[in-house]
Amino acid sequence: MGNIMEKLEITAQEAYCKKVEELTPSELHLALGKVVMGEIAPNWAKSKAKHNSERRAYYFSAEFLMGRMMYNNLYCLGILDEVTKLLKKKGIDINVFEEIDDAALGNGGLGRLAACYLDSAATQEVPLDGYGIRYKYGLFKQLIKDGYQVEIADNWQRFKDPWCVRREDEAVTVSFKDQTVKAVPYDMAVIGCKTDNINTLRLWQAEAVNEFDFTAFNNTEYDRAVKEKNDAENISKVLYPNDNKYEGKVLRLKQQYFFCSASLQDIMRRYKAKHGTDFSHFAEENAIQLNDTHPVSCVPELVRLLQLEGMGFDEAFEIARKTCSYTNHTVLSEALEKWSADLMTQVIPEIYDIICLIANKCQEELIAKGINNEMRAKMRIIDGNAVHMARLATYAGTYVNGVAQLHTEILKADLLKEWYQVYPERFLNKTNGITQRRWLGLCNPELSELITDKVGSDDWLIDLSKLSVLNDCLDARTINKFNKIKAKKKVQLAEYIKKMDGFDVNPDTIFDVQVKRLHEYKRQLINAFSIMAIYFRIKEGKLPNWTPTTFIFGAKAAPGYARAKAIIKYITEIANLVNNDPDTKDKLQVYFISNYNVSYAEKIVVAADISEQTSTAGLEASGTGNMKFMLNGAVTLGTWDGANIEIAECAGVENEYIFGARVEDIDRLKKEGYNPAGLLEQNPELKRVINTLIDGTFDDDGAQGEGSFRELHHALTKGTHWHDPDHYFLIQDLPDYIETKIRANADYADRKEFGKKCLLNVANAGKFSSDRAILEYANEIWHVSHK
Ligand SMILES: *Cc1c(COP(=O)(O)O)cnc(C)c1O
Repeated sequence: MGNIMEKLEITAQEAYCKKVEELTPSELHLALGKVVMGEIAPNWAKSKAKHNSERRAYYFSAEFLMGRMMYNNLYCLGILDEVTKLLKKKGIDINVFEEIDDAALGNGGLGRLAACYLDSAATQEVPLDGYGIRYKYGLFKQLIKDGYQVEIADNWQRFKDPWCVRREDEAVTVSFKDQTVKAVPYDMAVIGCKTDNINTLRLWQAEAVNEFDFTAFNNTEYDRAVKEKNDAENISKVLYPNDNKYEGKVLRLKQQYFFCSASLQDIMRRYKAKHGTDFSHFAEENAIQLNDTHPVSCVPELVRLLQLEGMGFDEAFEIARKTCSYTNHTVLSEALEKWSADLMTQVIPEIYDIICLIANKCQEELIAKGINNEMRAKMRIIDGNAVHMARLATYAGTYVNGVAQLHTEILKADLLKEWYQVYPERFLNKTNGITQRRWLGLCNPELSELITDKVGSDDWLIDLSKLSVLNDCLDARTINKFNKIKAKKKVQLAEYIKKMDGFDVNPDTIFDVQVKRLHEYKRQLINAFSIMAIYFRIKEGKLPNWTPTTFIFGAKAAPGYARAKAIIKYITEIANLVNNDPDTKDKLQVYFISNYNVSYAEKIVVAADISEQTSTAGLEASGTGNMKFMLNGAVTLGTWDGANIEIAECAGVENEYIFGARVEDIDRLKKEGYNPAGLLEQNPELKRVINTLIDGTFDDDGAQGEGSFRELHHALTKGTHWHDPDHYFLIQDLPDYIETKIRANADYADRKEFGKKCLLNVANAGKFSSDRAILEYANEIWHVSHK
């Protein structure tokens, strides 16, 4: 790096006629961003040229939840400390950049995974570029008002965006039946750590081919004059705020096809520049990973584009199939994409026609393999009026993978079992991971220093398996050091929560944390119920040795998800009760922090003692939040689900707090009949807790338990026409959960033993690096080179 400060002075002067110390935070952000981009430009160009000369892979994802870029980029370049000092000399605190919002072009785990994978690929020199959509508005910002979620548009571009380069010259057009739009690429540099390699995230923005209809304007038809512009821009206007729920809107279909078509045209243009029009070797040079089914229209679109180059259907399909692989992220039926054939015909008729050809080919192939009618019927890609995207992706790709061992087993045994029987060689597991640069190095410098000291170098930054040396560092002094670091991170979080939400959190309590999207299957409600049970026990003097605990929740609910919103309200009502009850307020504190996002996560995961991972067994495909907590030395209080299982296996199940029914138990209950109302009758404590929803203990909008809380109660005890009572088995798991939580609380009192459990979690978190995961993808799915 050259002289950063000198360059920053010049940029400040040129762009704002100001000295560096006179810049506003947002000006400083832009100016420093520009300087950094200038510094990396040569390496970026070099990396691009290198990747262009070799087999490479692309990550197609409708979401990239990147988080704040400034600190991460400076960190990966190894100049964060230097820049911090240089700015300090000018009287500028580097924390000013916290005023700049992070772009949330994703909902939760799936989008964050995509971001971690880009980071890891850049660091491990895997030639992997991302393709997605440059939404004007990312995930909404959340306020909590009177206990209710309020959504506000996330206009992240108001701070400008120094990290993206607009490439007007590489724009392409994308056509729908009723509309043709321009796709303009914005390139974001993805900077590797301890390497000169830089990868690219290319995000497409939709714009009008003709911005302005002059004739219409002259005819005083002002709306029509800008109609094309508005219609085009609508396509990349907003991220759908749904997590694990399929939203079948026309606009969503357009978004998906838009970025798939633009990205494929881009890849094919590059291929053509090298090889001319002979596309027969396309699959030898390119691998495309479909992050869930959102980008599945990539397959028929690739067929269509190859046909335009003169190729026949069969050959084009074989190439598409060899190029694409599919990652499944969910088994929840409400999240499995199914498009109606009618709608597809209205929006992208040529694509629908090609899907029909693929669907027929699939059935022919199955007949040739001797698959009987009954089984073939279950494998129809087009079934009646529904196009099953997961089936299309499974058939029309080389590999299909789950994201944790248990999840992959469930795919094979249940969701995609017919497919597994016919094509067993396609199924792979790729347990998710997280990048240790952002989720340890950057967000926990104190623990990083301890680790670097024990490892003897900071090589763990690029090889997380190095953490295992900590297994031999479980002496009293090290544990004590770890506990001190954790205490410090809790003080820092308490200050941050005070600043962001105004709560007075006591850092001298256990921090028991549940942060993730709000969803019934994740069961924030079981956590809330356990707190109520503990509250009653404390009031009755039944928990004399309870160590004071702060329960921290953070979660956004999809705006249309009424039950999720009712759960937020219920948690805030509990907070009002226990935080103000003189019998309990010194022992129990509950806070629902607002606007949980990547930046908040960075402060939270480092400060947690206990990581709540309470999904119903079999329903959380992997989870990655669980890994962030583990890496920073929290124990998992969770179910035998997703990656929790692998976390417990790595760190030792005795160092976690696992509770509740396993998948087999849930399956048995479903078969034999599950009667939650019966369980409540046998257990007065449970009944009392659950009745707080309806007995007037709490107030849901002036209704004293007669509003949305009654609906929650009804769903648990009676069910509805669309699901059985207690569909997520809360009442089944609650007793074991309460006892397990109390056991964890008691264990915490032995600071040395508990600290040892925490350290063992850190020591054995190596597997959960996204570096490990991305290298598995590179070696076993994409077959591309790397470091
Ligand atoms: C990691 C992360 C998630 C995913 O959390 P899970 O607990 O795995 O669902 C969601 N949102 C943000 C902001 C994250 O950083």
